[in-house]
Amino acid sequence: MFDSLKSKLKNIFSTSSPKLDSESIFEGEGGIGPEEPAAAAPGAEEKPLSRKEQLRAGKQKKPAQEEAGGTGGDMIASSGKKIKEDPLDDLLDELELALLESDVAYPVVQDVILGVRDNLVNKKHGRQYTLEQVVEAAVKDSVRSVLRANEFDFDTWVEGQPRPTVMMFVGINGTGKTTTIAKIAKRLKDDGRSVVIAACDTFRAGAIEQLSIHAERVGVKIVKQGQDADPSAVAFDAIEHARSKGKDVVLLDTAGRMQTNSNLIDEMKKIARVSKPALKVFVGDALAGNDAIEQAKVFDTAIGIDAIVLTKIDTDAKGGAALSIARTIGKPIAFVSDGQGYDDLQAFDSEWMLERLFEGADE
Ligand code: GDP
Repeated sequence: MFDSLKSKLKNIFSTSSPKLDSESIFEGEGGIGPEEPAAAAPGAEEKPLSRKEQLRAGKQKKPAQEEAGGTGGDMIASSGKKIKEDPLDDLLDELELALLESDVAYPVVQDVILGVRDNLVNKKHGRQYTLEQVVEAAVKDSVRSVLRANEFDFDTWVEGQPRPTVMMFVGINGTGKTTTIAKIAKRLKDDGRSVVIAACDTFRAGAIEQLSIHAERVGVKIVKQGQDADPSAVAFDAIEHARSKGKDVVLLDTAGRMQTNSNLIDEMKKIARVSKPALKVFVGDALAGNDAIEQAKVFDTAIGIDAIVLTKIDTDAKGGAALSIARTIGKPIAFVSDGQGYDDLQAFDSEWMLERLFEGADE
């Protein structure tokens, strides 16, 4: 269905200039033996640092253990082949393009590329591996370290919260916000918690009706008023209801017409002020790519986002959205939604996401 990073890498290796063949890119093919020291060649330190090298120098080194535990761990050897830097730059340029084509946002691409360089340069690679294998492992390691920073353990978090725990969901109409709320309500209920949903999107009668259907289907209480009621008042009522009935969690649905609409943003701020949510969740559509990032930024500036749910991951055309969104706005992904059923909600797992990005649906 979409081109995975793995198939893009394959493409790079099948279509790239002869410069990328292993004889010209590996130092010491037939020359440098196992005794070659890992340090740079004499005189290399006199060279002025390139932009990439300066950036790299500023980045903290990953702990050796993490490196060794990564996909490429056993590829890094005390003896073996070293990759030359110049042809590697050509390869990294191609890789940069492939990542951008996968909808990975530019700053994230830069992070990944720097990580890949770090994983490849001045390291020796076991002679049994091909350049393609070594590069794939380096890309995986780099993507993994970006994704790992984005995990959020919702279940542990919710366990430690005072009751009732209020969670506010924001996002643009059509992203899957209402469905996500129903899925989270079901997950909490299946886990033995009592849940109240508040229909704070009073802008559309249809939204209240739709949320009521979801609430009934997953078997949780809904607190609602009529169309055009004050959304903050609905939130307040729901929280009061939860307090008086000893309910565990209150999930607030909110309106999602154009994110640039300042009335909407004022409304969000007011709901947040009145309900003091313990968790503010941005729901973003994986298909929306950079638009989702922009939307997240607007909501984050207005109310401060704590976590993200990325929806429609089952239809994510290019695969880079998860990698980009959390990294760009610096918030963790709590869940990914991968279908329309109430159980199609997965806790975000960087290894799972990595597999998706690399294996894709086309393998
Ligand atoms: P809202 O306007 O943001 O509340 O969006 P809805 O929850 O009403 O969802 C809009 C449409 O997207 C509905 O048809 C949902 O069934 C569908 N949808 C929501 N989440 C997913 C998902 O993860 N995958 C797919 N394929 N469809 C989804």
